Amino acid sequence: VQILHPFAGSIQQYAVKITGPDRHRPNHCPQCQARHSLTAHGFYGHTLVDAKFDGTIRVRRYLCRSCKRTVSLLPDFALP
Ligand SMILES: [Zn+2]
Repeated sequence: VQILHPFAGSIQQYAVKITGPDRHRPNHCPQCQARHSLTAHGFYGHTLVDAKFDGTIRVRRYLCRSCKRTVSLLPDFALP
């Protein structure tokens, strides 16, 4: 599942911000509603074509220990 996350600032600032796993870590699972924080689970590449940016951004992924499903933190500017 993807959660949309508002990010202020530029794509370059976004790339720096998501490098640390803790800053935007969800504190509960949006799928099973388990009340624990999710485990960082790497990144995937998301191709973004925009007036200001044309390339691939990294999207942070988390894993729920309860339901074993992944949650992606998609920045709101990545939406078409
Ligand atoms: Zn879950």
